[in-house]
Amino acid sequence: MKRILLSERIKKAPWFLTIEPYLRKQDHPVSSHPEAREPRIVPLVIIDYGSLMARIKQMRYIGKLLIAAIFEMAKSASSIKNNPYTGKTSIDTETLKELEAYAKSLGIADIGYTEVNPRYIFKGFRILFKNAIVFTIEMNKEKIKLAPSIPSFIEVFRTYYEVGVIVNKISEFLRIRGYNAHAGPAVGGDVNYIPIAIDAGLGYSGKNGLLITKNSGPRIRLAAVYTDIENLPFARENPHRWVRDYCETCNICSQKCPVDAIYMETKTLADGGPAFIDHTKCAMPFSNDNGCTLCIKHCPFSYGDYNKMKMRFEDVH
Ligand code: SF4
Ligand code: SF4
Repeated sequence: MKRILLSERIKKAPWFLTIEPYLRKQDHPVSSHPEAREPRIVPLVIIDYGSLMARIKQMRYIGKLLIAAIFEMAKSASSIKNNPYTGKTSIDTETLKELEAYAKSLGIADIGYTEVNPRYIFKGFRILFKNAIVFTIEMNKEKIKLAPSIPSFIEVFRTYYEVGVIVNKISEFLRIRGYNAHAGPAVGGDVNYIPIAIDAGLGYSGKNGLLITKNSGPRIRLAAVYTDIENLPFARENPHRWVRDYCETCNICSQKCPVDAIYMETKTLADGGPAFIDHTKCAMPFSNDNGCTLCIKHCPFSYGDYNKMKMRFEDVH
C-alpha cells in the first residue's frame, strides 16, 4: 500500500498563521510565480522521514522556543492590519541609518536589500510588498562547535525565535514612521530566504545548501521584512560567487554528513533552481541527533577568515 506522506499533502500553515485572514481592501499582495517551488514544512518532513518520538522528547529543551517562534509567526501575519498606508514609499538616509542601527542593537549581524523575485515566493503563498530588507542573525560559534549536542540544538532554535522577534520589532519601527511592512519570520516564512539573501548580496549558497556569509559562514539564520519603500539601497552585484568554486575543492560537508544527504553534484529541479540536499535523508539525524548541524559545524567558513580564504583560493586557482 502506498504510504501517505503528510509533507506531500500539506503545503501550508494553518490559515491564522498566514496573512490571508488579515488582508484589507488596500492590500495588494504579491503572488508566487506559477513555476515557483513548493515549501517544505519541516515538522511534517520529520513525521514522514525522521523520528517524531525523538523530536517529542527534545521538546523539554526547545519546546518553549518553538512555541514562542510560532507566536512571532502569528504576530507577523496579524500585525499587517497595523500598516498605516500613508503613501510614504521613500525613506531618507537618516531614517535608514536609524533602522540599521536599531536592527544591529537587537542582534542583527548583517542587512541587505532586494526586490523579491516571485519565483522565490513559495507556490501558492503571497507577500504583502515586493521589496525586502533581509537580515541575518549569528548562531554562537562555541555552541555550534559542540554539535550535535543539546546546547547547539537550543542555539538553533534560539536564533529561529529571536530573529522572528526582531523582524516584528523592525516592522513596528517602520509603521510608527509611516511606512508599510510585513515581517517574514524564520519559522514559517512565505519566501525561500536563501536566494533572496543572495540577491541582497549577503552571501552565496554553499554545497550544504546554506547561505555562506562573509562574517559567520553558514552559522546564521535568515528572516526578512517586506515593504513598499522604493528607494532602498538594493544590491546590484554579489561579490561572494567564488564560494561555489571553493566548495568544489572542499566537499567537507558532504563527507561529514552522516547519511550522505548532501549531493556531491548539486541537482537542478524542474523549476530550474538548485537542490543541494536530500531532505528525506537529513530528517533522521536532524530529528534524532539534536539537530545534527554537522554541515554547519564542519564548514571552514563557519570559523575561518573569509578574506584570507579568498586570497589563498585565488592564489591557487
Ligand atoms: S544536518 Fe546533518 S544530516 Fe542534515 S545535511 Fe547537514 S550534516 Fe547531513
Ligand atoms: S563545507 Fe566546504 S563544500 Fe560544504 S558548504 Fe562549506 S565550503 Fe562548501
